[in-house]
Amino acid sequence: MSAPRLEIDLAKIEHNARTLVKRLAARGISVTGVTKASLGSPEIATALLNAGVGGLGDSRIENIETMRGAQVAASMTLIRSPMLSQAERVVAHADISFNTELDVISELSLAAQKAQRTHGVVLMVELGDLREGIMSRDLVSAVRETLGFPNIQLKGIGTNLACRCGVSPDTNNMAELSALADSIDAIFGPMLSIVSGGNSANLEWALSGADTGRINDLRLGEALLLGCEPLQRQPIEGLFTDAFTLIAEVIESKHKPSQPWGEVGQNAFGEVTPITNRGDISQTVLAVGQQDVDPSGLQTPPGIEFLGASSDHLIVESEHCLPVGAEISFQLNYSALVRAMTSPFVTKVVNT
Ligand SMILES: *Cc1c(COP(=O)(O)O)cnc(C)c1O
Repeated sequence: MSAPRLEIDLAKIEHNARTLVKRLAARGISVTGVTKASLGSPEIATALLNAGVGGLGDSRIENIETMRGAQVAASMTLIRSPMLSQAERVVAHADISFNTELDVISELSLAAQKAQRTHGVVLMVELGDLREGIMSRDLVSAVRETLGFPNIQLKGIGTNLACRCGVSPDTNNMAELSALADSIDAIFGPMLSIVSGGNSANLEWALSGADTGRINDLRLGEALLLGCEPLQRQPIEGLFTDAFTLIAEVIESKHKPSQPWGEVGQNAFGEVTPITNRGDISQTVLAVGQQDVDPSGLQTPPGIEFLGASSDHLIVESEHCLPVGAEISFQLNYSALVRAMTSPFVTKVVNT
């Protein structure tokens, strides 16, 4: 089989999703399955839907188009604010989009009128992580204006934490989102069906037994796919962390000095790595590199240690000689997974 390849175990992903859907249902929260790390793979999307996620979310309209093209039947939400230049595509393929700019909602409204469709809008609120979001003091007026746009239906509010600055979801910021939902309903009448509290980083809060208030949706990607939470990158009890495996092939296997010789400057990526002399080692080169994966996000198997990587080569040290042609398996973190999924050089093999 060709290498490098990413082997995907759908049953493990479905198990992870079913487990979290069940645990969160007990807290009054439904799951939007986030497909962006899997490039909108229709097989993975279908596994998530079989497991009971309420709908799908993706940050790229291209991925939503892929899933629509494959007849994946689900409500689909664009979870990044649409580009003005993509308004027509967003209205054509996404049921709902997350928004923070009235100019964008205005353009979505025009596109929706032209297409004779209604487009759902979730307004994102800034609660401290300083990525996307309307400042809470501006939310009421944003709601008022959103309600005035033809062919636009305000579906709810949401927030996103732990992505840019690592601000953790907690009882305070989640209570603030709930309170904002209450105050909007108090002014405009009950109209917010979605109060979306965040991503995989919200799980600890959501399952802690804390009052979940108005929050009735979480958007989960990493936790479903990799079985771990993104704050400390700890495995979540009862979930598989090995649904994805990267397999790479050995192209050189030699005993070499551990220390380079000659004058040493920066490497191809501008890094200077100090290397201590450990004598001769068993050094292996694999045909996989920065163009295929984030090498620093690969978990090496026992007895194999990461030494370095360039665009097309991964260099490891091993206790035993790894023969040319041998295949080596790695587990991946989120960053490695995203790069491997999006690299045209990595073959995807879906196992059911
Ligand atoms: C990527 C993303 C998610 C999913 O995040 P995970 O940490 O993978 O669960 C949720 N919401 C938004 C807005 C995102 O961009």
